[in-house]
Amino acid sequence: MKLNQRGLLIVISGPSGVGKGTVRKALFDMKNHNLVYSVSMTTRSPRENEVDGRDYYFVTRDEFEKNIQEDKFLEWAEFVGQYYGTPKDKVEEFLEQGKEVVLEIEVEGALQVREKMKDAVFIFIVPPSKKALYDRLKSRGTEAPEIIEQRFKKAENEFNLAYKYDYIVVNDDVNNAADRIMAIIRAEHARVERTFHNYMKMLEE
Ligand code: 5GP
Repeated sequence: MKLNQRGLLIVISGPSGVGKGTVRKALFDMKNHNLVYSVSMTTRSPRENEVDGRDYYFVTRDEFEKNIQEDKFLEWAEFVGQYYGTPKDKVEEFLEQGKEVVLEIEVEGALQVREKMKDAVFIFIVPPSKKALYDRLKSRGTEAPEIIEQRFKKAENEFNLAYKYDYIVVNDDVNNAADRIMAIIRAEHARVERTFHNYMKMLEE
């Protein structure tokens, strides 16, 4: 029995190198879910294995700025010299269809979503230690050393804003982290403020 029609907006953040992408993959690989991923737009260059339209929409700075002017983003931010943003049309469409929409975005953008979408759920993924984060950023081998340093510094600032989220999930193990996120999503669905009104309506029918 489905008590709420509208989908849930789930915002996942965490410092660069924490493994958000792998946790997200493990989450989407789980059975019986209704999750969709909101593909962001960015001006950074694709990494090896990244596919345009699947991982990001890769655009020029001019194209990105045109989208800002046309108010096409739910949120956007600059991160280590590149633009990143969530196209808003798809998000609304998916929520209307009752899907769980997952945004994987940095903190500044997440706080913009917090202002606009009062019923969204905010999850911050943390590493088991700072060393684990640094080692992972370095071993990923996708960024130049100075970018790694900038991302690590940025990570320290992001940690300080984790208290603005609803949940913290430690990525000590990818599957455990994905399990915890799924548990949060299920619990959020059962919240009284999301279900009570529809349930009472259903009883009357
Ligand atoms: P990366 O370059 O490692 O793919 O992403 C850098 C940071 O930008 C990550 O923290 C990632 O979550 C964030 N990010 C990805 N897409 C968006 C977006 O649409 N908006 C915002 N604000 N951040 C994003």
